[in-house]
Amino acid sequence: MMPGRIIGVSLDSAGKPALRMAMQTREQHIRRDKATSNICTAQALLANMAAMYAVYHGPEGLKEIADRVHGLASVFAHGLKKLGTVDVPELSFFDTVKVKCVDAKAIADAAYKKEINLRIVDSNTFTVSFDETATLGDVDKLFEVFAGGNSVSFTAESLASEVETSIPLGLARKSPYLTHPIFNSYHTEHELLRYLHKLQAKDLSLCHSMIPLGSCTMKLNATVEMIPVTWPEFANIHPFAPTEQALGYQEMFKDLGELLCTITGFDSFSLQPNAGAAGEYAGLMVIRAYHLSRGDSRRNVCIIPVSAHGTNPASAAMCGMKIVSVGTDSKGNINIEDVRKAAEAHKNDLSALMVTYPSTHGVYEEGIDEICKIIHDNGGQVYMDGANMNAQVGLTSPGWIGADVCHLNLHKTFCIPHGGGGPGMGPIGVRKHLVPFLPSHPVVPTGGIPTPEKTQPLGTISAAPWGSALILPISYTYIAMMGSKGLTDASKIAILNANYMAKRLENHYPILFRGVNGTVAHEFIVDLRGFKQTASIEAEDVAKRLIDYGFHGPTMSWPVPGTLMIEPTESESKAELDRFCDALISIREEISEIENGKADINNNVLKGAPHPPSLLMGDAWTKPYSREYAAFPAAWLRGAKFWPTTGRVDNVYGDRNLVCTLLSVSPMAEEQAEATA
Ligand SMILES: *Cc1c(COP(=O)(O)O)cnc(C)c1O
Repeated sequence: MMPGRIIGVSLDSAGKPALRMAMQTREQHIRRDKATSNICTAQALLANMAAMYAVYHGPEGLKEIADRVHGLASVFAHGLKKLGTVDVPELSFFDTVKVKCVDAKAIADAAYKKEINLRIVDSNTFTVSFDETATLGDVDKLFEVFAGGNSVSFTAESLASEVETSIPLGLARKSPYLTHPIFNSYHTEHELLRYLHKLQAKDLSLCHSMIPLGSCTMKLNATVEMIPVTWPEFANIHPFAPTEQALGYQEMFKDLGELLCTITGFDSFSLQPNAGAAGEYAGLMVIRAYHLSRGDSRRNVCIIPVSAHGTNPASAAMCGMKIVSVGTDSKGNINIEDVRKAAEAHKNDLSALMVTYPSTHGVYEEGIDEICKIIHDNGGQVYMDGANMNAQVGLTSPGWIGADVCHLNLHKTFCIPHGGGGPGMGPIGVRKHLVPFLPSHPVVPTGGIPTPEKTQPLGTISAAPWGSALILPISYTYIAMMGSKGLTDASKIAILNANYMAKRLENHYPILFRGVNGTVAHEFIVDLRGFKQTASIEAEDVAKRLIDYGFHGPTMSWPVPGTLMIEPTESESKAELDRFCDALISIREEISEIENGKADINNNVLKGAPHPPSLLMGDAWTKPYSREYAAFPAAWLRGAKFWPTTGRVDNVYGDRNLVCTLLSVSPMAEEQAEATA
């Protein structure tokens, strides 16, 4: 029942320990509406930044920082008592000092003139917080504010020796912490640089080759789009800084919202949800609030096709909805008669349909407008999952098709990098009748239209008013640079690239679904199920062998078990598309060797993949195929080879050993940790 991703210890093909995500994937895909969380794109990058802060500073460095922060707060409190213009209650504190006074607003205004924001709690109270970026000079500035124009007879530095800690003895930590070698090894910048580089070198990224993950839209994250994220004007502002100090942000929110309205055909956007799945939750809550506002308190049923992304049922369940599944037909389209039956059976309690377009099967579903009409005729709202917007932008739109709400994955279609789990942004767009119900925020109103009865029917989706606002410049820059023609061309080329690959591969592998004119949308599914019979080969074997060819596997076994879903995006050149096709075609030949008995059915290059250097360079080589062919099955690998660091990881062992024990602090364990990390 524990939400989140569980990392456990498994073993690789050589028996070495290997860290692995349990259940191989996010739990929503397996547990659907019984999942404990709908989170897919997460805050993994940000969690890593926090972890690296601890790696760099270590236990002693962190304590030093904390001592200094507490020292600044203590000097500040001590100085205020000396000045005597305000009242500092005798409280124990760490970094935040509470101050009582006659007129908190007047003091905050005086601080504001010196470019310091103080937090007003009530008319007689405010608080002042310090962190490691604050200096003694900042404290002196504050003293000037509180002296009310009179000169101050002391400096923060001169008080430093007089102050004592205000942390009660009983609360001071005495037990050791951060004892793992990772937190005690990399305390110089050079060491940290090398450590980070060592880690990233184990990762295959878009720097090496295309990552054809269907539904994930792994497109170019252009450097020029990323640069504004580093600008202090964007990066160093607090989410609750007064809005008049962040007018650039305000302008971007407004412009970006309008651009997204134009792209989707909607009337308003909320930039609050932090990922697609958060957008799903927000959108469904908007629909719920809409029904409730009309007295439709019984509308609680959500129709979801079985082919939907796992977050759809997980989000609907989080909203307390009852999920009714509908199937797909042999061509991969939603079974319209099933939808009609389900909608009519629930016409008194139908809340919404969740639908992805083009479908998760990679086809433009011809019946989509009819499906929307059936839902509307039976009193429901249409939620469109916008993950496949890369096949719509400039060509069609959710609003035009008939959806009422849609989330956009800005980290897919609109260029925010999201490899490894985020961060993302999942803003939602809505049609006019849903605008009053959009999320708002108790500190900073962000949207929705307050109604006399209930000020905000929906409430708040994220802790920060505009979600992960810092990454919005990436999408904003992308849209601004591309313009309407560029964006439309991108969709066309994404579709062209997918069709080119499907055409090249169709003579070698069955392509599972196509539209009525024989084409696919921006992604397509390669069917590998037949090879289980003919060669005992499964989708995983092909995905792992692709690593030897220097590629990341495509999306595996979703939405159809035993298949691979390929999405090339518009960013890839014809040469790269061909290279990937060549790899898959070459792997098809390797499968043929098993089929015609030339290769052993249990011991072959596919079953043995991936082949790490530790295996290839070992003295004992007992495989029936050559080391050279295992490592260099294609000519391009001679010029640049991405070396996997581990052999095939045992999935079953990993699922049965969920407990990840921290390796003990000894030099040998450290080596072992190195080997497996
Ligand atoms: C990625 C994706 C989601 C979830 O979006 P996150 O941003 O990862 O939460 C939902 N539906 C589909 C079809 C997707 O591809």
